[in-house]
Amino acid sequence: MEKKDITIVGKLGEDYNRPYVCKECGGIMIFKGVGEYECEECRYLAYDDYGKARNYIEKNPGATSGEISEKTGVSQKAIRQMLRESRLEIASDSKTFMKCGICGANIRHGTLCEKCAVSYHRNVEEQERAKRALAGYGMDFKKRDDGAMHFIKAEQNK
Ligand SMILES: [Zn+2]
Ligand SMILES: [Zn+2]
Repeated sequence: MEKKDITIVGKLGEDYNRPYVCKECGGIMIFKGVGEYECEECRYLAYDDYGKARNYIEKNPGATSGEISEKTGVSQKAIRQMLRESRLEIASDSKTFMKCGICGANIRHGTLCEKCAVSYHRNVEEQERAKRALAGYGMDFKKRDDGAMHFIKAEQNK
């Protein structure tokens, strides 16, 4: 269970081909937010895969993942990953769906439908309760500390 948690946190730190160096002048690219980066020297703007996909969708509402991939050069795998992370959502009038990982229901973002997400979290909470009953609070506190460190590391990668 601990290992699985770390895998999920790790995915948050994925940088989706973040630009590090300015194409124009070689300056350092600074994170501006929502997939956008700006050169600290010449103010040149560049985008990571998320920024590219997002810009394309804003200009072309209802675009399919195949179309986004073709026009922006972002891989369909990266687009699916962004959908799973709920960074992107399939438009409500689209006939395309993702599948809930537990019951197979149609969903538009994330990995689980709302029903399964609720029962999944109840399950995790129950396991946490059981762990506390077995291990006592001190040991549990140590594990939590570990988890927090991984999260901060993932945040810095953005
Ligand atoms: Zn520059
Ligand atoms: Zn489900």
